[in-house]
Amino acid sequence: MTITGGYRRMIKMAEIHETLLAISLQLEEQLKFYKEIGMTDIGGSLPNAKAMPEPLPVAIADPVPVAVTETLAAKPEPPPEPVKPVPPLPSPPPVREEVMPKKKEVIEESGAQVGLFGDFAPPPAESKKPSGLPVLDLYPNDATLEDIRADIGDCTRCKLHEHRTKIVFGEGNPQAKLMFIGEGPGVDEDKTGRPFVGQAGQLLDKIIVAINCKREDVYIANVVKCRPPLNRTPEKDETDTCEQFLFRQIKLIQPKVIVALGSPAFQCLLRTKETITRARGEFREWNGIQVMPTFHPAYLLRSPDKKREVWDDMKKVRDYLTAIGEA
Ligand code: URA
Repeated sequence: MTITGGYRRMIKMAEIHETLLAISLQLEEQLKFYKEIGMTDIGGSLPNAKAMPEPLPVAIADPVPVAVTETLAAKPEPPPEPVKPVPPLPSPPPVREEVMPKKKEVIEESGAQVGLFGDFAPPPAESKKPSGLPVLDLYPNDATLEDIRADIGDCTRCKLHEHRTKIVFGEGNPQAKLMFIGEGPGVDEDKTGRPFVGQAGQLLDKIIVAINCKREDVYIANVVKCRPPLNRTPEKDETDTCEQFLFRQIKLIQPKVIVALGSPAFQCLLRTKETITRARGEFREWNGIQVMPTFHPAYLLRSPDKKREVWDDMKKVRDYLTAIGEA
């Protein structure tokens, strides 16, 4: 059968139509997410913020039924703890208290750029610095991420290997300025060998886009590289065995900011028992890297009202990267 030029054009048109449809669906999803998080600006550089409409009131109770196929998503996040009073900064920027609450007004009145450095410079947080943190300098100097992957090999160092399908090493830009760290692969990740590709991963993708990044620009990894059975939290011996690979990845990539997703990732890096509920939203200094603890996307699937808090945390990350010229 010969395909005429007209028929070929029709096929091409159908393909274009399909692509546009996919893009518009993706856009719609992203916009829905913006609405959920109450986003009021896009990337801190709106030319005329005054003209921007206020976000629509968001129905916090997420109407999207989340089929929680992963038990990770079903894992209860610790109940909210009473908000701890913020200790005074060792050398507080004099205008910090003044500027933060007024940021919106200033932007609205002036239509100026949003990138006000003062309110997102991470505090030194010396008072919170726990001792006994992992020291990256003490870990091997790997030449490439592939070397680290090769060292992991067909790993049997801990019991997690018994049930895994694929090792989930991590992926992204080896020179990423921003890293996201989760606790361990779930069912979709175990099948594909890629981090954060399930429902939680799709939400993480939206979070990344919301801060004007692309997934391929950041690096995404987990504390443990093999899926814990039934997505349980990794046990201490498993974390102890596997974290060296994560630390070597971090040492090689040298990100400026790490977003620790959920308690296990945060507690592993910071060697603390502090929960994510208590710790989120405040930068911590870790091996010269700013660590931002925030809720795990799987938790957000069950508690969508927490998306706004994650958005607050992510704005700090975005603004910090902008301020140091790494956005
Ligand atoms: N949850 C995680 O912590 N990591 C993944 O890669 C996927 C889900």
